[in-house]
Amino acid sequence: MSAVAEAGRYIGRFAPSPTGPLHAGSLVAALASWLDARAHGGSWLVRIEDVDLPRCVPGADQLILQQLASCGLIPDAPPVYQSQRGALYQAALDQLVANGHAYPCGCTRADIAQANATLGLSKPRHGDLVYPGTCRPERGGLQGKPARAWRLQVPDAPHDLITWQDRRLGPQHQHLASAVGDFVIKRADGLWAYQLAVVVDDAAQGVTHIVRGADLCDNTPRQILLQRWLGLPTPRYLHTPLVLGDNGEKLSKQNGARALDLSSPQATLQQAGRALGLVTEARGSVADWLAQAVRQWPFATPGNP
Ligand code: GLU
Repeated sequence: MSAVAEAGRYIGRFAPSPTGPLHAGSLVAALASWLDARAHGGSWLVRIEDVDLPRCVPGADQLILQQLASCGLIPDAPPVYQSQRGALYQAALDQLVANGHAYPCGCTRADIAQANATLGLSKPRHGDLVYPGTCRPERGGLQGKPARAWRLQVPDAPHDLITWQDRRLGPQHQHLASAVGDFVIKRADGLWAYQLAVVVDDAAQGVTHIVRGADLCDNTPRQILLQRWLGLPTPRYLHTPLVLGDNGEKLSKQNGARALDLSSPQATLQQAGRALGLVTEARGSVADWLAQAVRQWPFATPGNP
């Protein structure tokens, strides 16, 4: 465990994918995770999630770190890069395979669509196809197909709900088998899946509190199952409100969210703070603004540790 992990009880993190500069929505997640860490007297880390290399933009990591620094959000340890941590992910996959929790899958997207159509299931409007378990070992496994991806075998009894308590949204639950099915932990293109990498890294870095955008909320049950099967602790979760663009859709790099205007970091921080329900003044230095925001942060009370 890192020196930071040994020193404190609270370790938080911001984990951007370097697919472009921060936008108004990602700044909200960064700010919320920083405020929660500071309000708890904890440490705050930045992890560059560059596992999906084809989507990464060269230099975006440095740009993100500079944008954070302009807003006074400086990590307590040098950022780690997921692209350098493949050995850890491989060890986790080996453990899951050895314990019978993961299996190789030879299905293409077309195979999955076809299997779902045969079962009368259509693709949800937003979201991935539910994997119908075609290559599960108990159904005969690959049956001569070449292995493409590796999947986690999720519990599929009707009562097998994953439940957890979000610090902002309250009690949550998901039935993984019907919501996502056996999900990919190593992709057909050989890249590590976000779900596995994030769980391995949060544990390796001793992260105790995850604060991130609500768009990631429905990934949490997959991550909790992975934590259980890898024998890792489950951190506390807080999913922040999403910032919507003028068209009412979630802001994202993909839908062309404008780059952050950092000519006045206090004004930009104030706008991010407003999305989190903070009523602050943009006067004074960045440090002054952050200090007033920490005092207002509502999620560090004894009832919301
Ligand atoms: N890298 C992910 C993203 O940028 C966030 C991962 C996380 O916070 O768990 O959407």
